[in-house]
Amino acid sequence: MNIQTIKHSLVSAVKNLPGKSIGKKVVVIECDDWGSIGMPSEKAYRKLSAAGLPVEKSRFYQEDTLEDTPDLEALFTVLRKYQDSRGNHAVMTPFCNMANPDFERIKSGGFQEYYPEVFTETYRRYGRSARMMDLWRLGISEGIFVPEYHGREHIATDLWLRFLREGDAKLRTAFDSGFVCYSPPGLPAQAKDFRPNFYIIGDHAREGLRRSMEEGIDLFKTVFGFAPIVFNAPNGVFLPEFNKSLIEKGVRFNAVPRKRLDRNEDGQYRHRSYVTGHQTAEGMTCYVRNCNFEPTDPAYKNTDHVVNQINGAFLCGKAAIIGTHRANFVGGVKVSCRDKGLSELDILLKRLLKRWPDIEFRSSRQFTDLLL
Ligand SMILES: [Zn+2]
Repeated sequence: MNIQTIKHSLVSAVKNLPGKSIGKKVVVIECDDWGSIGMPSEKAYRKLSAAGLPVEKSRFYQEDTLEDTPDLEALFTVLRKYQDSRGNHAVMTPFCNMANPDFERIKSGGFQEYYPEVFTETYRRYGRSARMMDLWRLGISEGIFVPEYHGREHIATDLWLRFLREGDAKLRTAFDSGFVCYSPPGLPAQAKDFRPNFYIIGDHAREGLRRSMEEGIDLFKTVFGFAPIVFNAPNGVFLPEFNKSLIEKGVRFNAVPRKRLDRNEDGQYRHRSYVTGHQTAEGMTCYVRNCNFEPTDPAYKNTDHVVNQINGAFLCGKAAIIGTHRANFVGGVKVSCRDKGLSELDILLKRLLKRWPDIEFRSSRQFTDLLL
């Protein structure tokens, strides 16, 4: 172990000191954005780039796209390769967005109203095989891919429609290609590319947003046959007052970053710190994602930093909650992206079992049992 490794593990340990300890070496992999559209295709990417949209500035717009059968099959193959000492397979918890924009209806309505399209319908529109939902059910039944909730959309719909009505040309070009993410002049930095769906300006949009969040949970139950119990707010932006509605719908846990941008009663968003085990005023239990794994990020070198983060968590008796994104594991726009993400996941799982033979793989749902 070199000095740098020790330093990184110590820094990670200090960050992990606050909050509830569980005294077990548990690894949870939480992967966001499943079900949402991302970049529709490589062709759309090239068209948008040629039209002057800065799509090449974000790795997400070069890589992230709606999942397909080869993505799930290849991912499941890697997860099935590894078992902990109790015989549990490695498991990923996909955090799902249940709907995408119904572009046709929104356009016909003159951008006045937002209309959602359930992601299973988006699969159909994108020409995905009918086997997609069979694969979801298989992942759930094998306990290797057990979904939780990431909001109905991954889009700040109210703001998006407002800027579309105002006629921003590039935003409209993106819309016509079935793509959302672009920041027109005047869009607040905190609402970047319309990605944080819980970013609103003014109270008029609040109740509609709350209803969409509740409706997304109902859709989750219809699509997957059970209710989610964990919620993670897209881009770390949320309205804590909505916790009450989440709890009424059966969601009892928030997976949070160490700092989340929360909207206060005065309508202003401010960063707020969280620790694992924190109970909010509304009765929601929070836990912190204390590790990150983004193998297709240009800044990513290898699994060393993840192992150091996990070591820091374990030194403090905390579970390792690894945050990651679908962008690392889908190949529909760039097949090399999926290959890289899965080969690094493979290396990571192998390293973890070798270093900590007593590790436990748990889904987010199974992990929350340890917080009660
Ligand atoms: Zn997300």
